[in-house]
Amino acid sequence: MPHPALLSRRAAIRTALWGAAGTLALLHSELPAADLPPSPPPSPADGSAKFPNFELEPVRTEEIAPGFCVLSGPGGNVGVRFPERKGDAGDTLLIDAGIRVRAAEVQRVVSAMSPAPIRRVVNTHWHYDHVGGNETFARGGAIVFAHANVLRRVSEDTFVELMGRTVPALPPSGRPTVTFAERVGFPVQDAHVIPLAPAHTDGDCLVHLPSLNLIQTGDVFWNGGYPLIDYSTSGSLEGMIAALERVLALTDEKTRVVPGHGPVGNRADVEAFRAMLVTAGERIRPLFLAGKSLEETIAARPTAELDERWGGRLRSADFFVRAVYGSMKARQGGATR
Ligand SMILES: [Zn+2]
Repeated sequence: MPHPALLSRRAAIRTALWGAAGTLALLHSELPAADLPPSPPPSPADGSAKFPNFELEPVRTEEIAPGFCVLSGPGGNVGVRFPERKGDAGDTLLIDAGIRVRAAEVQRVVSAMSPAPIRRVVNTHWHYDHVGGNETFARGGAIVFAHANVLRRVSEDTFVELMGRTVPALPPSGRPTVTFAERVGFPVQDAHVIPLAPAHTDGDCLVHLPSLNLIQTGDVFWNGGYPLIDYSTSGSLEGMIAALERVLALTDEKTRVVPGHGPVGNRADVEAFRAMLVTAGERIRPLFLAGKSLEETIAARPTAELDERWGGRLRSADFFVRAVYGSMKARQGGATR
């Protein structure tokens, strides 16, 4: 008996609509059994069971600019840059690849929108919900671009303390094939890939499309909710804040900003998220510097004033305090590598 959420996911996928060029297409994508997770994964260790379970979320499609669509739901947001008009010669660019078990489905949704093949994929960082689809798209002929540290992280088993688990290495066929270093940006089709200093991880990049006034940020920006900060791979609160300043420098009031998680936003959303991180740092840092333990810091509810707005969605307040505290401790102790 399929899990009830899977039944509703199938229903949602069957009714997914695509409105490019004023046309509507009904997508039929009955999923083969191999795509389905064997059972719902266990609840996250932070008790945030009410937060979305990536493996069960329906794929939602949203055209946010001419020739640019965001696929959200399973894993991090996936940006899809199509050739300018249907029927044009050209290739499709994917920005992030989602989770592995849903990649074939994402591939079907994208190919139902345009016959242009997916020839390039950019990974915004190494996390499994952004690189998991690489293997599927590489098998279809795509080259995968990423920061050199993404290749390093996905080439070995990597422990993420905040998640309390070791993420296994990707198979070689799912690893990036073209890598870039910090501070050396380059174009991919009409997008500019902008590497960042360590922020959410040590391999982040932004993808900027000036012609569309659009930027996809990966997980340096979570729209409307508390983020994960992966201090085990050199992410930090300060690095996230600095990365958001890079994003703000590339935006105006009309820019569409595609976050790693959450709905597509704008400059004001980025400013609000950045201000939240700054305030959280100001509240948590004194407790950390006073020698409070993690448990004492969580018990003091340092983010209480922020929790109503930011704690109800992507990550819980306790999880976020653990992330910020952990990043301060890692920086102080040089525990990251
Ligand atoms: Zn991430």
